[in-house]
Amino acid sequence: MRAILDHVGIAVSDVRAALAFFRDALGLDVDPPEEVASQRVRAHVAHTGPAALELLESTSADSPIARFLAKRGPGLHHITLRVEDIRAALAHLKARGVRLVDEEPRPGAEGALVAFIHPSSANGVLVELKQASGSRLQASDSSIHRFTIGDLEVVTLFDGFFRLDGGAMFGVVPKPLWSRKAPADDRNRILLAMRPILVRGARTMLIDAGLGDKENEKFLEIYGVDRRRHLDHALAEVGLSAEDVDVVLATHLHFDHAGGFTTRDPSGRVRPRFPRAQYVVRRGEWEDATHPNMRNRASYLADNFVPLADAGVLQLVDEDRTIMPGVRVQRTGGHTPHHQIVFVESGGRSAAFVADLIPTAAHLADAWIMGYDLNPLDTLAAKQRFVKDALARDTLVLFEHDPGVAAGRLRDDGGNRSVIPA
Ligand SMILES: [Zn+2]
Ligand SMILES: [Zn+2]
Repeated sequence: MRAILDHVGIAVSDVRAALAFFRDALGLDVDPPEEVASQRVRAHVAHTGPAALELLESTSADSPIARFLAKRGPGLHHITLRVEDIRAALAHLKARGVRLVDEEPRPGAEGALVAFIHPSSANGVLVELKQASGSRLQASDSSIHRFTIGDLEVVTLFDGFFRLDGGAMFGVVPKPLWSRKAPADDRNRILLAMRPILVRGARTMLIDAGLGDKENEKFLEIYGVDRRRHLDHALAEVGLSAEDVDVVLATHLHFDHAGGFTTRDPSGRVRPRFPRAQYVVRRGEWEDATHPNMRNRASYLADNFVPLADAGVLQLVDEDRTIMPGVRVQRTGGHTPHHQIVFVESGGRSAAFVADLIPTAAHLADAWIMGYDLNPLDTLAAKQRFVKDALARDTLVLFEHDPGVAAGRLRDDGGNRSVIPA
């Protein structure tokens, strides 16, 4: 359990004297007061870096703060620790014999959920736990979505959530802008999904395969991996298992796309995860992945793709071409020099799997390009071309990493781009 100091609550009997000290003498910025009706208090938040001071003024003679003031006088009232999942935190503490004031969280200020721990279990300090509304503002979706494109069926699958540094995900975009669309956790990471694509037509094709199950605890911790629901569940929902996949196509070989290409067998050997499948990879991407440099090394893990060559199931392609009827690849470069996107076209309709060209719906604007990209100007050019074409053809856009929107159609209102979820 991780707990971050959110604020310190101070009971105030004379608010003018308190402001004279905290605001005027110390020079702290103090927000306009907020009424918290359920607690019958007025809170004045004074900013002191990542944590704040909360000056609490009672609005009723029988409020908890009024009773505290009557008994102890003004002073330190409580500390508030922010947790990611307040229900999990309460269960964790209860299991360790900690006495709770609130066994169930209740609504606090600014849409947060809060619960108090009894001072007798906390060295005499009243401790409040808080789950900020930010972690609930952003919808997350672990379900699959099925679409018909002419004669083909397209399914957005799911291999779990993970987290990457928000700054790295948005490149030169300042945090005050991106954090409104993708709230950061206490380690500055944002939530991302892994959504490989299934195409059923002449053959059964999987495009990318998520992270897979080979990584250790430390890796899962660093990337905040949540694979309680993963690719096997998603395939089972469509009535398929690994044996049913004929072709596996890679957009590129980063671990969040190619990790699921292989698995470790009971003897510890890494082998292809889809036993009947041919794996199709772009030759330039294969060369880069098997000869990594200091800049891209952390993203290319050899166990994800080298065993494919050893097993003789690897097929390298050199140029933009059709992989099976209705499915073609197009190189975008940018993110990696040979990164490619995939178009599914049939019966006059089209869908596009945009992989790391536009990883989430928040990356639609031209300048919102990942800091990870090796050639951001190539990303920019490819994105401009793609968006123009997708608007003209009303293409269904499939987002690999958006935590809430698996697919949608683009809209452009005078240069302001958005997605209408499908
Ligand atoms: Zn990537
Ligand atoms: Zn990615």
